[in-house]
Amino acid sequence: MLERIRIVLIGTSHPGNIGGVARAMHNMGLADLALVAPRCEIITQDSISRASGADHLLHQASVHATLEDAVADCTLAVGASARSRTLPWPMLTPRELADRLPGECQASTSRVALVFGREDSGLTNAELQRCHAHVHIPTNADFSSLNLAAAVQVLAYESRMAWLSQQDAAPTPDADDELVPHEELERYFEHLERTLITIEFHDPAQPRQLMARLRRLYLRARPEKMEMNILRGILTATEKSADKQ
Ligand code: SAH
Repeated sequence: MLERIRIVLIGTSHPGNIGGVARAMHNMGLADLALVAPRCEIITQDSISRASGADHLLHQASVHATLEDAVADCTLAVGASARSRTLPWPMLTPRELADRLPGECQASTSRVALVFGREDSGLTNAELQRCHAHVHIPTNADFSSLNLAAAVQVLAYESRMAWLSQQDAAPTPDADDELVPHEELERYFEHLERTLITIEFHDPAQPRQLMARLRRLYLRARPEKMEMNILRGILTATEKSADKQ
């Protein structure tokens, strides 16, 4: 289970924090670290010293230009956020998230991304809307922002606790490996937006959060591959029919 959890850091600006994250991950048995457009060097004296012996995670970290790329193969992406946003999204506590992990990680093709934001500005709305759900670590409302590595530590700890309790539990039946990976969902959203523009349902000049609301709907539904094929088929038929008119 733990090997199927990826920690994704977006736009990190302090090497020390990346090192602190590597240490937190290795302490809890996580190893998959992905960096999206880091705003600092990864291997520095600071990062190595904060990693305190977990610097192999820094060396093997993957680096991506975009969040889409970092989570392309993930079947579940959860964004960690210190703040509540304008459009409400499914919210989890760290423990609720951890409770879902054993089920989410059953199939050999499962990948869960835990996505963390920039030290100064967190995650953008667009980034949060790429996630199935958001997780907020309960804090003092007047002082809600944890240090990046501390936030990773909390979620990594909860993940480990869920993994430990699973070790004693009976094996679960049939893994479901038919969920759609993220990149396929993203292609679907692009196709959906194009079609909605073609049939003049959606005006990009006046978006009214339509695509965000639709994203929330489809991400909540967690479509399976066969269902996604039906949805794509409907869009293609709609485009064809609009073409004839
Ligand atoms: N100043 C930023 C917070 C940056 S902290 C803001 O206001 O959004 C860096 C990252 O740590 C955040 O983007 C988030 O991913 C994580 N984080 C910090 N505090 C958190 C909390 N209470 N719950 C969940 N994630 C948190």
